[in-house]
Amino acid sequence: MRVVLLGTGTSFGIPTIGCHCPVCSSPDPKNKRLRSSAYIESGNLHFLIDCTPDFRTQALRYGIEQVDAVFFTHTHFDHIAGIDDLRVFTIGNNKSIDVYGNKDVIADIERRYDYFFNPPQLGSGILNLNLHLIDKPINLGEVCVTPIPVKHGILDILGYRFNDFGYITDASYISEESLNLLRGVKILVINALRERPHATHFSLAQAREVAEKIAPQQTYFTHICHRLEHHETNRQLPPEFQLAYDGLEFTI
Ligand SMILES: [Zn+2]
Ligand SMILES: [Zn+2]
Ligand SMILES: [Zn+2]
Repeated sequence: MRVVLLGTGTSFGIPTIGCHCPVCSSPDPKNKRLRSSAYIESGNLHFLIDCTPDFRTQALRYGIEQVDAVFFTHTHFDHIAGIDDLRVFTIGNNKSIDVYGNKDVIADIERRYDYFFNPPQLGSGILNLNLHLIDKPINLGEVCVTPIPVKHGILDILGYRFNDFGYITDASYISEESLNLLRGVKILVINALRERPHATHFSLAQAREVAEKIAPQQTYFTHICHRLEHHETNRQLPPEFQLAYDGLEFTI
């Protein structure tokens, strides 16, 4: 399985519009963060975790030419707003894309993107999706995908485990039961917003504490705001806990 992190920024993206802080002004590419998403390749299958408002840029930058399934964590704008740009993969080749999520994701897509399912005019180039509720592990090719229920403030959202790779974003609490589903992963990507606590996202210390319980070989932090400078933060962290960056790639 090859994994590419397409974006590692919080909802505003880094640089944040109108902000002149040292991170937003930094010319270093590791301090530039598109909205959080990941791409997974296994054999002939190509998966996306979330589809951000930056998806078109991410697809062009990282050479994404195939998407077979999208696993949504939740439907906040920064995780779903690129969904219409998936049309390019379905139009012309009579293909549909499998979309997975919890019941809130399915209901929200049906409501917000009603025109996918009830097109005002046929032949107008509308995205063709197959919606699937995921509430237990499924096997796709060589990959076992396990949904991991986590809390994002008061919201119930999903993280995912793909074989030995765990991906959690926008979490602020993970139950013991869900921690058990993540135990044994070799690489964990988990959200860490900033140093200061936040109502709906783990801080860096909280994310590290959770990661220590899961005990992967390597943890990468994602969904990072502009308060964390890449190199300075990573210098203060042990090598097995590091901030991720856009374009970070690994094989597992
Ligand atoms: Zn988010
Ligand atoms: Zn800033
Ligand atoms: Zn969110």
